[in-house]
Amino acid sequence: MVIAQRFGEGHRVLVTGGAGFVPSHLVDALIGRGCTVVALDNFITGAKDNLGHLADNPRFTLIEADITEGLPAHHPAIAERFDAIMHMASPASPTDFGTIPVEILRVGSIGTLNLLERATADGARFLMASTSEAYGDPLVHPQPESYWGNVNPVGIRSVYDEAKRFSEAATMGYHRARGTDVAIVRIFNTYGPRMRPDDGRAIPTFISQALRGEPITVHGDGSQTRSITYVDDLVRGILMLLDSTETGPINCGTEHEFTMRQLAEKITELAGSPSTVKFVERTSDDPEKRRPDLTLARTRLGYEPSIGPDEGLSRTIEYFRSRV
Ligand code: NAD
Repeated sequence: MVIAQRFGEGHRVLVTGGAGFVPSHLVDALIGRGCTVVALDNFITGAKDNLGHLADNPRFTLIEADITEGLPAHHPAIAERFDAIMHMASPASPTDFGTIPVEILRVGSIGTLNLLERATADGARFLMASTSEAYGDPLVHPQPESYWGNVNPVGIRSVYDEAKRFSEAATMGYHRARGTDVAIVRIFNTYGPRMRPDDGRAIPTFISQALRGEPITVHGDGSQTRSITYVDDLVRGILMLLDSTETGPINCGTEHEFTMRQLAEKITELAGSPSTVKFVERTSDDPEKRRPDLTLARTRLGYEPSIGPDEGLSRTIEYFRSRV
């Protein structure tokens, strides 16, 4: 199955959180297709540098704004109609859950509603970045979209999980009641260049530690598993969903499942590092297992991940080498 490109030259796309890790790669891909892209970001976890290479591109505008305050309507790039709105803004690392919980709740609730209003008014396609965290600590493995999840509503991760679940509900509410053209992608652990070395997620932490020759800190006994997706594969999947007429939710990820211990060892090996593994206390509500059922992505979108862990991790290690 091949989905025809629906958004390209002549189309205006708004990307919220555009200066973040995943969204900045999405911006690059949209620019590559010929779209005109407006990125909105308040830089709470993103960085202007991630988009520095586009500064002189006439089809690109970066605006500093907090989407929970409404869209900056006075800005000429915002005043004009959008063909698609990609709502990617949200802090996403476990460290953020403890330090900026209110900001996470606000961007997932008020921010999402603000953008749904605008997408509805513009008749734009609205794509919302949801997460595998919507499944919580899953009792079903691997996770199909039909699984409703197992989330602790008052746990440390709940500010993120529940904000995303609210975003999904809001997206479907607007679709049903107002006819908004919507799509929800449930993103599984993704890694690659432009992640913050200190963002608390396993891969950047392990790579930074390996490159410094420090012990690799693995939580618990390291037997918990994650599937990991290289960012280029994810961006391809998200654009397939954008081009389709599917509402989702649709999982996007890969089926390469690693235990945290295997991941630490693989990174040490690929980085040529002398580091050894050190086990530290496990954080609460840390899910035991996470792996997508990709049946829907395959059958509805023709999505197939193509970048294996050795290649993806090596590219990421190279990016971090110059920064750590
Ligand atoms: P990121 O923190 O690098 O990017 C998020 C961006 O949103 C940042 O640039 C941040 O400054 C911006 N932002 C946050 N609140 C904002 C606000 N109120 N107004 C304007 N901008 C705001 O994170 P990421 O890993 O690239 O994640 C991007 C999206 O993908 C998020 O919605 C996240 O929940 C989702 N996601 C990511 C992963 C992953 O593995 N990376 C997994 C599941 C879901």
